[in-house]
Amino acid sequence: MNHPPSELLSRRRFLKDGLWTVSLGAAGAAAAALASRSRAKEWVWQIDPYKCIGCGRCATHCVLSESAVKCVHAFEMCGYCDLCTGYFSPDPKALQTGAEHQLCPTGAIRRRFIEEPYFEFTIDESRCIGCGKCVVGCAAFGNGSLFLQIRHDRCLNCNECAIGRVCPSGAIVRVPASAPYLLKVRNP
Ligand code: SF4
Ligand code: SF4
Ligand code: SF4
Repeated sequence: MNHPPSELLSRRRFLKDGLWTVSLGAAGAAAAALASRSRAKEWVWQIDPYKCIGCGRCATHCVLSESAVKCVHAFEMCGYCDLCTGYFSPDPKALQTGAEHQLCPTGAIRRRFIEEPYFEFTIDESRCIGCGKCVVGCAAFGNGSLFLQIRHDRCLNCNECAIGRVCPSGAIVRVPASAPYLLKVRNP
């Protein structure tokens, strides 16, 4: 079915706003769980997504065997691109939709057709290891809508975050436990 451009954009806007609300809702639920679990803690560790360069150390330096760091997707910022460079290899020569060109080493990103020419990308957190490959890929040619966050339903809130000791960009920061996520927004 063909849609007039204004209707298509309006439907796309509705879709994106709705998904962004879901994303914020999930973060809010995690924040509430954190607050009830550790009322005594006033500050927690978090990643500043505007400083993170996706170096990969979040996957390997957390004290937990499965890192507390997971990828988050800002639906509000996403272009819903067919050739997403956070999903497929951002190498221009290899930029095509063959399964062998997927970037995520664990298959944690799901790609779903919405309507021509838009695709939705969601993260399966149970598979995400926080490696940051998709973050680098999206920032290279996309709009940076994929980014990393420390999930507070997993994090032990170590006295000194082991990732923070090795982070090359100073992206691990203390934030109030009452607002424990640093989410990207459309116009920061
Ligand atoms: S590429 Fe890495 S950070 Fe991104 S979803 Fe996959 S495992 Fe998570
Ligand atoms: S504070 Fe500890 S558990 Fe949390 S992300 Fe850092 S190293 Fe991992
Ligand atoms: S160690 Fe720092 S720069 Fe590297 S992925 Fe983690 S937050 Fe980003």
